Amino acid sequence: TDKRAGWNLDNSYAGLPEVMFSRQEPEPVASPRLVVLNDSLAASLGLDAAALRVKDGVEVFAGNRIPEGAEPLAQAYAGHQFGYFTKLGDGRAVLLGEQLTPQGERVDIQLKGSGRTPYSRQGDGRAALGPMLREYIISEAMHALGIPTTRSLAVVTTGEPVFRETELPGAILTRVAESHIRVGTFQYAARWGTVEDLRALADYTWQRHYADRDPGENRYVSLIREVSERQASLIAKWQLVGFIHGVMNTDNMTLSGETIDYGPCAFMDIYDPATVFSSIDTQGRYAYGNQPEIGGWNLARLAEALLPLLHEDEAQAIAMAEEALGHYVDSFHRHWLDGMRAKLGLFHAEPEDEALVKRLLQVMYKQRADYTNTFRALSLAEPEKTGLADIDAFQDWYSQWQSRLSRQEESAESAYQRMRQHNPSVIPRNHRVEEALSAAVEQGDYRVMQQLLNALAQPYAYLPEQETYCRVPDPSGRPYRTYCGT
Ligand code: AMP
Ligand code: MG
Ligand code: MG
Repeated sequence: TDKRAGWNLDNSYAGLPEVMFSRQEPEPVASPRLVVLNDSLAASLGLDAAALRVKDGVEVFAGNRIPEGAEPLAQAYAGHQFGYFTKLGDGRAVLLGEQLTPQGERVDIQLKGSGRTPYSRQGDGRAALGPMLREYIISEAMHALGIPTTRSLAVVTTGEPVFRETELPGAILTRVAESHIRVGTFQYAARWGTVEDLRALADYTWQRHYADRDPGENRYVSLIREVSERQASLIAKWQLVGFIHGVMNTDNMTLSGETIDYGPCAFMDIYDPATVFSSIDTQGRYAYGNQPEIGGWNLARLAEALLPLLHEDEAQAIAMAEEALGHYVDSFHRHWLDGMRAKLGLFHAEPEDEALVKRLLQVMYKQRADYTNTFRALSLAEPEKTGLADIDAFQDWYSQWQSRLSRQEESAESAYQRMRQHNPSVIPRNHRVEEALSAAVEQGDYRVMQQLLNALAQPYAYLPEQETYCRVPDPSGRPYRTYCGT
């Protein structure tokens, strides 16, 4: 059965020092039912969707049957949660193994919501259906937007309730990732392992994600630099589409540079750097405008964990770490500004570009403009639809921008085309996500979600039938709030 389904699992993580994980099988559930399967992802992993849909296939996603070749384990990690260091680990997830794909890639197959583990602390090890579907929707939207992310292969309902503030249907998400190695994994090794354990983890991570890069004189310094570069690029992409992660704790930052943990995330509607959706982020630590700086803070925690590998002399080690981290700020800025140029249809750099971008953002902020739709209207050459056309500051900006466009060799048409390739017309707007989730969870009707997923799969297509997904929420509605760990 598993051969026919295409499972081709290896378990290289289990070769790491034992302090880094615990062997752990998922806990079986009462009556699993497959509610979503990602056919195109399955195909790219070498899996046969039809074979995954039958009972034997679904039981793998439920944790009721271990596929051939899997050696399930729960990963140990730590993390700074809102600045405070904590011992964590997969409290409700197990890594089944690593799928070796037809393209020669190695990706983690993880069940999330699969029962208790040695790292569960007070938790029940389970997940509710709504949040697992939400992760599915938003992670797949991020992928379609061209943003590195963990993927979602399947969601099954368990037939068992979970108890939060109320009773909710339980579910398990199958998550696919280049790996689940986090900054917090290194913090765990540094704190609870030996230097040799830490070195084994660092060597493994380098081999798994950076084997094609030049390790230079010191591959641990290079690891800091390479991870910083990927995170700078990643967080710039978040900023450019208005994505707010919501819980950028060090356990939620990957070494691969993929977005992970879709608990309290959400897309911004009105442009405001102070935007926060998470109910527990009362200080705004993870507000939209703080994300780049928090990225740097988290990378400093990674470097700190790696210090023992950098140099035997601590002062030297710190100097090396600082040098490696020092590129992050400039790199982020370069990625962000290049991305903003693309959003404004600019093909080449001019010194005044950043000022031009900032003037537009300033007008948008003052006028409480919708972030996505402002760029969308500009991309469609419909400035009147920005809602800003009567504003003097916008008119000034617009004529400066138009003259900037006319100084380019490229035609206006190619500039607008470039804009439509970089400004999504469809994002997972909170009210549409909620609508899809309540139809699925409360009525068992997955059609609303499927339609939303179809629209989100082509965010840059500007199709007429997608227009309904561009509408902003009713302004009379309550501020949107998100929750983690449900
Ligand atoms: P998060 O806030 O999603 O990054 O999760 C933080 C930590 O809490 C991770 O170690 C999770 O595995 C753990 N956790 C979250 N929910 C549960 C649960 N229901 N049972 C056990 N552990 C959980
Ligand atoms: Mg997490
Ligand atoms: Mg989470």
